[in-house]
Amino acid sequence: MADRSGRGSESGPAISAHMGALFWPEDPVLSEIAADLREHDVPIQVGRDSGRTLQLLVAALPARRVVELGTLAGYSAIWMARGLPAGGRVDTVEVDPARADRAQRWLERAGVAASVRILRGAALDVLPTLEPPYDLAFIDAVKSEYVAYLDHLLRLVRPGGLICADNVHWGGRVADPAVTDADTEGLRAFLRRIAHEPRLLSTVLPTGDGLSVSLVR
Ligand code: SAM
Repeated sequence: MADRSGRGSESGPAISAHMGALFWPEDPVLSEIAADLREHDVPIQVGRDSGRTLQLLVAALPARRVVELGTLAGYSAIWMARGLPAGGRVDTVEVDPARADRAQRWLERAGVAASVRILRGAALDVLPTLEPPYDLAFIDAVKSEYVAYLDHLLRLVRPGGLICADNVHWGGRVADPAVTDADTEGLRAFLRRIAHEPRLLSTVLPTGDGLSVSLVR
């Protein structure tokens, strides 16, 4: 679950509000999506700070081809689409047809529908159908599947590209040995893998619920 305050985990609410107003303001469409998710679905989109970080990474590479696993309402896809160079595209994978339909409407409202393609289906079914090279991947679907996603993404993301993943703190549960459910164990395995995988140079940023960033060597 993302922290909707957009806080940095060690910074406290005052510094978070100060930085948030300067660096990760939501425009009206993003605010409406967040409100709609609170009312009609589950507000598990990335925090504003992670949205801005992803946008910045897309713009810095620059990433022309982005793949996202887990669309929900398109909130993070919109942040990333706004960092794309002209002609760039985000491919975002969503298994839930109603969410995919709703995301399509939000993408249109946000003015980025031409640069975001929703791929309907389960990530592990869609990933083998994709062709490299992608410049940036963002993982935000089933936590117990993160390692399996990574195996596909190591084929799809070019050297010099980035593989990012949300929720790697998992509310602190990854560091609590008493918690052993499949999602927590999946995230622990993912963290071990990106820490030791020789093809990656990785770190975890303390934005939202923990955002991992791995450079493909
Ligand atoms: N990235 C989105 C954002 O920040 O705006 C939030 C994604 S939400 C955490 C996870 C999404 O993954 C949900 O919409 C869920 O329906 C979708 N999902 C669940 N299982 C999936 C699967 N196997 N393949 C693709 N999407 C899946």
